[in-house]
Amino acid sequence: MTDPAGAVLTGPSSVGSGPTEADWAAAVAAVRQLPADGRVLLICHVNPDGDALGSMLGFGLGLRRLGVRRLQATFPGPPELPEPFHGLPGLDLLVPEAQAYPDPDLVICFDAASASRLGALADRLATAGTALVLDHHASNTRFGGIHLVEPTAAATSVVAEELLDRLGVPLDAGIAECLYVALSTDTGSFRFEATTPAVHQMAARLLATGLRPGEISRRIFDHRPFGAVRLFGEVLGRARLEPAAAAGLGLVWTYATLDDLDRHEQRPYVLEALIDSVRCTAEADVACVVKQVTAGQWAVSMRSKGAVDVSRVAVALGGGGHRFAAGFTGLGSAEEVVGRIRELLDDALIVEAGQERPRGVSGF
Ligand code: AMP
Ligand code: MN
Ligand code: MN
Repeated sequence: MTDPAGAVLTGPSSVGSGPTEADWAAAVAAVRQLPADGRVLLICHVNPDGDALGSMLGFGLGLRRLGVRRLQATFPGPPELPEPFHGLPGLDLLVPEAQAYPDPDLVICFDAASASRLGALADRLATAGTALVLDHHASNTRFGGIHLVEPTAAATSVVAEELLDRLGVPLDAGIAECLYVALSTDTGSFRFEATTPAVHQMAARLLATGLRPGEISRRIFDHRPFGAVRLFGEVLGRARLEPAAAAGLGLVWTYATLDDLDRHEQRPYVLEALIDSVRCTAEADVACVVKQVTAGQWAVSMRSKGAVDVSRVAVALGGGGHRFAAGFTGLGSAEEVVGRIRELLDDALIVEAGQERPRGVSGF
């Protein structure tokens, strides 16, 4: 059995195909059959990124255009957004989780691979009349009632756009900006493997509403306080290269502590961009950034250039993600967290169909 990229499906990230026509019809019906005063709660994953927020707010603006009035968007944790997202359209839909409808008629989840990514808001899966899930993680656990989970989609916003289209909602500039932020975040600004012709066609539809991609990209990707620039310098300066890790494909990693953030007077979200500076290391297929959340607890980001399925490592350690971008919550010291990753990397090599072992591997 092969996945759409032609690789042998070998591990826990394997799932079936995307939504069936019956799934799409059920999702459309869930929205269309809402009572006139129906309450809709949109939830995206904890520590939201551009795809989580962008697909949620873009879809929310679409629902508003359909005439849904009792509509909230939320995410678990402190009701605080990273600065790059402060200009997103639809922010007025956001409420802190404590104010979210306790028993909405319809709950819609965005970009969350498992219920645990919804934090305490996961209880709405039981209290809501209907639970609809829009996602693109191969590791999706099929929580909720109606599943629009498309593992070949570059972003959850691809699924959101299709559902809006099936609901007859035309794109406007506000919806399009949200979906564009989502799409460009998850494709690494249209650089990753998932950047198919269909992705560019969707980007073209979004840009045609009058968006300014240069301005949006600067705001989302190329804009950080000077303190964060200096913090990056320090954290990159302590990066370690382990050429023998991952069966000789190489691991590069670094860590950042709460003390680092304090000294440079920075908020934790600035560290999200750090992995992009680490993963460009030529000598390593796998890159990892370990970010302290509390004493002894770390948010771990992993990336692979293509020879290692990092989602297998993440899932084994209680997290999730995609083959080439995954994460989990690590406990202990940063060294211990990386030690656990190192142990699992050899078993996460991707063996392509008809190929004995990945290029660059010297032996098992
Ligand atoms: P990040 O490194 O935070 O950009 O995350 C990369 C990918 O891994 C995303 O698709 C996330 O949804 C997923 N991911 C990150 N952290 C976790 C976690 N603690 N649990 C499950 N999935 C995660
Ligand atoms: Mn996400
Ligand atoms: Mn995503």
